[in-house]
Amino acid sequence: MEKLVIIGSGPAGLTAAVYAARANLNPLLLAGSLPGGLLTQTSEVENFPGFPEGINGFELMMQMQQQAEKFGARIEIATVTDILLTDGGVQILTLDNGQEIKTRALIVATGATPRWLGLESEERLKNLGVSACATCDGAFFTNMKVAVAGGGDSAMEEALFLTKFASEVVVIHRRNELRASKIMAERAMNNPKIRFVWNSQIVEVLGEQEVTGIKVRDNATGEESVIDCQGLFVALGHVPQTELFREVLDMDDNGFIKLQGGTSLTSMQGVFAAGDCADPRYRQAITAAGAGCRAAIDAERYLGEQNI
Ligand code: NDP
Repeated sequence: MEKLVIIGSGPAGLTAAVYAARANLNPLLLAGSLPGGLLTQTSEVENFPGFPEGINGFELMMQMQQQAEKFGARIEIATVTDILLTDGGVQILTLDNGQEIKTRALIVATGATPRWLGLESEERLKNLGVSACATCDGAFFTNMKVAVAGGGDSAMEEALFLTKFASEVVVIHRRNELRASKIMAERAMNNPKIRFVWNSQIVEVLGEQEVTGIKVRDNATGEESVIDCQGLFVALGHVPQTELFREVLDMDDNGFIKLQGGTSLTSMQGVFAAGDCADPRYRQAITAAGAGCRAAIDAERYLGEQNI
């Protein structure tokens, strides 16, 4: 029987592991299919305190992992495929390798995954020119023209990063006003390689074996036009990875786990949540890390109250 299992290896999960390990809870962290979480796929992280020059996302996560392991956290690369949760009781997890794990306390830090446009052509051309990660795939588009879907900070970040490689970056946004923060919006607007197509929705990704362009509909006139490009980067925000816990833990309409007040307590005693899976509002590495810390402290107190 484990005392504490943490699901997820992003900033929330790893920070929870550091705190729980230092509290002698001997935590087991299940890292999922992408150890280090989504941050390993971003480029430079400029807003994590303590790194005035910025730090590579992968590097930051590897350092967090080392820190957790240094204090005794055990990290296993495995994905949870099934759960049986009991209010205040033993929590049972089944892993993709068939193993069953029982634990007294559980921290859910499963993060969120990219949102896609939902087009058949987008699905068909994934990895053939359609991507949700400029850091991973941007270099394939050296001296080519690419499009970016979205108007938030992610879209601006992807577009700016892509200017390092692409000859032109066309940002397609469904409204005529960006959602992105002022500083990111200004950076993108001032970049001569970036062009904006406003008030428009991508209705089809064109190409058979590779992307050759996108078909775009003007939301005001309904008029459709084709933009030639060799790549499409979809940057529409993220969906919480909470499918496993649906109808088990209380969630909001978008699937974010609901927490009690300013704590990490979920609707079930002994089950805590932290990071993007429970945070529709901030979704930052630093807020996820802070939430991981809170979850570890809440779990420690819960176990203490149970004399475990
Ligand atoms: P957001 O939810 O902020 O933005 C998503 C964007 O995609 C919006 O412009 C939205 O349009 C658009 N969109 C969503 N669904 C569709 C659709 N089906 N078709 C067309 N467009 C769609 O997500 P982000 O990932 O950009 O940002 C999430 C959080 O992370 C934010 O708080 C952001 O500040 C932060 N962040 C910070 C970064 C940084 O500071 N370096 C980098 C990346 C993220 P609409 O605006 O019309 O809703």
